Amino acid sequence: MARANKKNLAKKRSSPAGRIAREQPIAPEPNRLLKVWRRVLERRLRTRLRAPVAVEIHDNTHTMLTFQRHRALWRVRLHHMFLTSSDEIIQALADYVRAGDPSASATLDRFIERNKAFIRRMSPAQMRKRMRLEPAGQHHDLGRIFERLNERYFRGRIDAAITYGPAPRVTRPRKSIKMGSYSADSRVIRIHPALDQPMVPRYFVEWIVFHEMLHHVYRTRRGEDGRRCIHPPEFIEHERRFHDFSRAQAWELENLDLLLRARVSA
Ligand SMILES: [Zn+2]
Repeated sequence: MARANKKNLAKKRSSPAGRIAREQPIAPEPNRLLKVWRRVLERRLRTRLRAPVAVEIHDNTHTMLTFQRHRALWRVRLHHMFLTSSDEIIQALADYVRAGDPSASATLDRFIERNKAFIRRMSPAQMRKRMRLEPAGQHHDLGRIFERLNERYFRGRIDAAITYGPAPRVTRPRKSIKMGSYSADSRVIRIHPALDQPMVPRYFVEWIVFHEMLHHVYRTRRGEDGRRCIHPPEFIEHERRFHDFSRAQAWELENLDLLLRARVSA
């Protein structure tokens, strides 16, 4: 995006100014403005962190804030909603970056929640277009497995895509979900490439795919105690209907170590 804008500006400069004014309104140089705001933000963070700070501004739809330390330098990547935030938020950012302060984290969560109107909305199809989906594999064709399960258990109604790919880290992992993940935003099921091996039986891969398909059916919700419930009782019950449920569970118990140790080149 930034590159495209730069290109446009360069083109305008090289053309006769009069012609441009007639043909298209001149944009208010968003890149220059962004640079200024970014510098201001770097300075505000630097004084609080007492260390050099490099800020990168993005338009992500999920991860609003990430940071890394390179020797003395803090590299902070932030959503543009942070560009003009108050001193309270900047202080929370500094506290969170420096020490993972929990109350700062809660302040930032609330800030992001209040500003979620600034987060770009994308349809699942738009998100999928930006991904490289690789369902074929060398041993287990996820596309075929998905289609068969969809017909057999869901009357073909699961509108999701599937691919091999690293599963994102799950905060409260359960042995079986480390092997796969489901994104409700993009409607993409990701299966860990470690499963694409001849030693992994087809029914085990099918079970993992089935489990992720159930995440499409049963969305995560907050339970009565306010905690997020990833696998509600009806999910657990539904999962037992999988034809090879006990066999797949038994296989996992016996082979999980092997799987976790598998070197994955993909
Ligand atoms: Zn799960």
